[in-house]
Amino acid sequence: MAEEAKFKCLRCNHEYTDSYDPDKIEERSCPKCGSNSVRRLKEEASKG
Ligand SMILES: [Zn+2]
Repeated sequence: MAEEAKFKCLRCNHEYTDSYDPDKIEERSCPKCGSNSVRRLKEEASKG
């Protein structure tokens, strides 16, 4: 079952929310710059 999670692109620092399925490991690409250097953020994470 998918849940929502925040992601951040390490290339352009774009942050966005997308569905996240913990049972699947998928490669993600930044919707802004297309880089696949995207990391998931924890909910507690604030700007930094
Ligand atoms: Zn990006």
